[in-house]
Amino acid sequence: MKVIQIDKKKWADGLKKAADAYRLFGPVKEEKFHNFKELARGELPDLGYLNSRLSPKSIIYPQSEVMFEYSLDVTAADHHIMKEVDKDYAPRAIIGIRPCDAKALVLVNHNFDTPEYKDPYWIRALESTTLVGMACDAPCSSCFCTTAGCGPYHEEGLDVLIVDTADDYLAKVLTEKGEKFLNTAGWNTAADTDVAALQLETGRQEAEAKITAFVNTDKLRQIDTNELYKAPFWEDVSFSCINCGTCTFACPTCWCFDIQDENRGKAGMRMRNWDSCMYPLFTVHGTGHNPRGTKLHRVRQRFMHKLKYYVDKYDVGIQCVGCGRCIRSCPVNIDIRRVCDLMNSHGDAKDSCAV
Ligand code: SF4
Ligand code: SF4
Repeated sequence: MKVIQIDKKKWADGLKKAADAYRLFGPVKEEKFHNFKELARGELPDLGYLNSRLSPKSIIYPQSEVMFEYSLDVTAADHHIMKEVDKDYAPRAIIGIRPCDAKALVLVNHNFDTPEYKDPYWIRALESTTLVGMACDAPCSSCFCTTAGCGPYHEEGLDVLIVDTADDYLAKVLTEKGEKFLNTAGWNTAADTDVAALQLETGRQEAEAKITAFVNTDKLRQIDTNELYKAPFWEDVSFSCINCGTCTFACPTCWCFDIQDENRGKAGMRMRNWDSCMYPLFTVHGTGHNPRGTKLHRVRQRFMHKLKYYVDKYDVGIQCVGCGRCIRSCPVNIDIRRVCDLMNSHGDAKDSCAV
């Protein structure tokens, strides 16, 4: 284990040096909420935040992204020919990403980087990004990361994990990419490994003890998919949903997109835009038939995908890191923790609806 001690007085100078080699992103307070933004030269990330309203997923996987350009000018020799667009994959670093949001990128990676399909935009963006995580010492009351395969000091997906010890930061080096970033920032004072290990372990235990929300997922894999699909509770679970899509847009593990051509005059762009399984048009066929034509179908799809199909397909747990964003942002208080418990206990006793 390698841990670097960063004197807080050297934090700003280090980031200034790192900015010579990396585009820096970090949490910034905008009106009432924190969001991840590209930091202006000399601007510091606000590490005193709880969690951002939206995850930093969009830095790797933009909400709207141009894939190709083309001309509609029939007098041009190359009209209607799709052309790659130049993209900026210069090194960048996300400072202060929470462990849950880094783990979420690992879950999304199962969709975009597979033996059968390799998404070039996702892969290049992820490869060019160094994730400098900030351990979470003040989890929100709606966080349930410790039972969602994650935790406030979880390291999966991160290149560096930083822990605030009041006087200093301890930076645990997790990958070569992370080490390179710390060197570039000029932070290279090795901490006493035994002392640092104890501080990290104590911090982890104290942070985990503050998590008060949990989910049960132990039976999801063994429950029959068709039985779960036909469970009587979906009617009640979906009753109040207004299909606004907020839960999917706020979620760091959702990946659905749509591809559309946008034309302006004789110039055209092929775009990839985030989409949501909660929208009625998401699955509508060219014939007009919609296999998920009711909100019951759509709400069931969201939870079945995250808590059953994903679990069965990838065998890496649920497609959720327990960040609690969908709970905090749903206008009608639909709560994935309760739905997960209903699904996990389906068949144990007569289904009751508590959602
Ligand atoms: S945020 Fe709530 S109301 Fe909106 S689509 Fe999601 S579950 Fe439905
Ligand atoms: S499903 Fe909800 S709690 Fe889970 S990762 Fe997505 S937004 Fe967070």
